[in-house]
Amino acid sequence: MQPALVGPRILLKRLREVMAEPETAQTRLDKIAGLIASNMVAEVCSIYVMRPGGVLELYATEGLNRSAVHKSTLGIGEGLVGVIAGDAAPLNLSNAQSHPAFKYLPETGEEIYSSFLGVPILRSGLTLGVLTVQNRTERTYSEEEVEAMQTTAMVLAEVIAAGDLEELADAFDADVGHVRSHHFAGTALADGIALGHVVLHQPRVEVTNLIAEDLTAEHLRLDEAVEKLRSSVDRMLADNDLARTGEHQDVLETYRMFAHDRGWVRRLGEAVDTGLTAEAAVERVQSDTRAKLMRSNDPYLRERLHDLDDLANRLLRILAGVTGTAAAGVLPRDAIVIAASMGPAELLDYDRESIRGLVLEEGGGNSHVTIVARALGIPMVGEVESIVEVADTGDAIIVDGQTGDIHIRPPSTIEDAYVEKVRLYARRQKQYDLLKDEPAITTDGVTISININAGLVVDLPHLEETGADGIGLFRTELQFMIAAGFPRMDEQVSHYKAVLDAAGDKPVVFRTIDIGADKVLPYLRQAKEENPALGWRAIRMALDRPALLRLQVRALIKAAGGRSLRVMFPMVSEVDEFRRAREVVEHEVEFIRARGHAVPAELKIGAMIEVPALLWQMPALLPLTDFISIGSNDLMQFIFAYDRGDPRLVNRYDPLSPPLLKLLSEIISQAGEHGVPVTVCGELASDPLEALALIGLGLRSISIVPAAVGPIKTMIRSLDAAKARDVVIKLLDLPDHSVRNRLAEFAKSHNISLNN
Ligand code: PEP
Ligand code: MG
Repeated sequence: MQPALVGPRILLKRLREVMAEPETAQTRLDKIAGLIASNMVAEVCSIYVMRPGGVLELYATEGLNRSAVHKSTLGIGEGLVGVIAGDAAPLNLSNAQSHPAFKYLPETGEEIYSSFLGVPILRSGLTLGVLTVQNRTERTYSEEEVEAMQTTAMVLAEVIAAGDLEELADAFDADVGHVRSHHFAGTALADGIALGHVVLHQPRVEVTNLIAEDLTAEHLRLDEAVEKLRSSVDRMLADNDLARTGEHQDVLETYRMFAHDRGWVRRLGEAVDTGLTAEAAVERVQSDTRAKLMRSNDPYLRERLHDLDDLANRLLRILAGVTGTAAAGVLPRDAIVIAASMGPAELLDYDRESIRGLVLEEGGGNSHVTIVARALGIPMVGEVESIVEVADTGDAIIVDGQTGDIHIRPPSTIEDAYVEKVRLYARRQKQYDLLKDEPAITTDGVTISININAGLVVDLPHLEETGADGIGLFRTELQFMIAAGFPRMDEQVSHYKAVLDAAGDKPVVFRTIDIGADKVLPYLRQAKEENPALGWRAIRMALDRPALLRLQVRALIKAAGGRSLRVMFPMVSEVDEFRRAREVVEHEVEFIRARGHAVPAELKIGAMIEVPALLWQMPALLPLTDFISIGSNDLMQFIFAYDRGDPRLVNRYDPLSPPLLKLLSEIISQAGEHGVPVTVCGELASDPLEALALIGLGLRSISIVPAAVGPIKTMIRSLDAAKARDVVIKLLDLPDHSVRNRLAEFAKSHNISLNN
């Protein structure tokens, strides 16, 4: 008959007692080995610890020759212990010596043992060591025994990681991912360099209390937490809150599948049965799942690991009672926020004074969170795979928004180099500051009007700092996105007034609210849409809810008083939409005039060119508008039929490609023929090479992110516009994917400054 296993709960209790004793590390480990051996009714229990360089060293044993301790070592993949470490999976053998990987270590005296059970000591997906038991008789260890060993290994991992065992602390430090420095190459999305400390947008819960006091209570906690998790995922899907939370529908569907997966929930319950707290059970099961999925050959399954990790973290946060994001907590003064994904409203929740940088695993160049980061002047890097797993709150980090490089826990050499780079950056910034009051005029005498994009009160000082000619795009929806409810009339009036006051004589173009797609108002319930970017948004919503538009327009007119007012409408798809929106403005002006209030001395009403259908209505549209503004972000998304927020498509199409340039050329010349001012306010014009091409196409006004004013002005002042025209015009009919290199060569051979 097989000897009975003493319940893992009792083992855990005894382990806790051993931990509490004031012993040396070695004695403690020896005691743990003895305890496990007697609990498992095994003749041998050994603990191997991973040393730097992937060497597994025998650290403690009960049953093998003690003289082998700190002498016997195995590489990863070498011997049974090495295989367990390499696979991060248990090995349960009734006859160990017949296994092909068995390696006999004569100094241990293990030849007399037949059966063998080994489990990896895992923490955060990394193998810290291996725990083994052996018996003389041939036997297969039961599933319960394997479970008990895994639970014990988890406790051991915590002990090692906590540095409780001093001699092991070094090994841990040297080998665990959370301590090593890491370099990631992402996509640079918002310019600037930041050195600071990591803040995880979704804080990770550190599980410190592993051993349960009261199993019934832990089961109850677990059940309640799972229930909450399920309903939160269901709610997110039902609310179509995806844009606000920055999550994609398919990811949430996967979450729902896992959250309702009976196998997962059963395994969590079983882990609690072994004596763990609910939190420790979540970690245990996640550790196992991670190890299993990492071994899988199926790339789809391996990708799901990320989702499962996130789901497990959500469950841990529910258990720990942590709600909300890090924005609600206390931030360091140099916070660099790291998130899997994020919506623009969530970024706006952060205290502007503290946030220095942003790193996302997702995030496209034209997504709105990127636009907000640029507006706030926060360096940002996107498409940084798996960074959330590697980074820990408080880690030192460098974000290079010029190259896309991210360094976590950088070595001092890298840090020094970056301190120097920041100094250089500041020096260049100073040179741009010197240009502030100089005109943006090309070498052949063409003046370009440089305006900035804005949307928040914090943007306003940029106008003065950059010396820009005005605000070419004021995204009014940002005020709506950070508010708790629809901003009242007086709130809107004072906001717009502050903008006009700050601008003084410089023109400001207010864009009426552009809500929809990824710009979601938390307090506005919207029906679920298959394609929100093509859905009920912007002017479509404004015309269907005229009260909303009227209120905003009235607020704008009041704020302007007797000053000039410029208003434009987003996402116009047909002339009739523009005509109706224009009527709303004109009607409001009359309404205010009739009541004896001041009306704008000058009123200019324009249309954004973002929807391709409008391109074939230009002759009808242009006589009705006072100006047009090309929204290249959306226009490009619709022309190429690509989702501007999809990280897989970020660099797929190049704006510097013949089809887009040709189209822009058409718009610019038609506007010219009708004498209608035209500008580009999408992200396109913020890049010197792109701006060069636009000027070559005849554009004389741009609206760009404030940080780009210096580099763009420098480029303009070194450019011959006529020569640029000759070059660009010749590229429009090429069959090429991109003409970027040709333009860059032109710039180089003509000493045009493209420093950005
Ligand atoms: C655009 O689409 O280019 C634009 C300026 O508008 P937004 O980026 O706010 O959609
Ligand atoms: Mg747009």
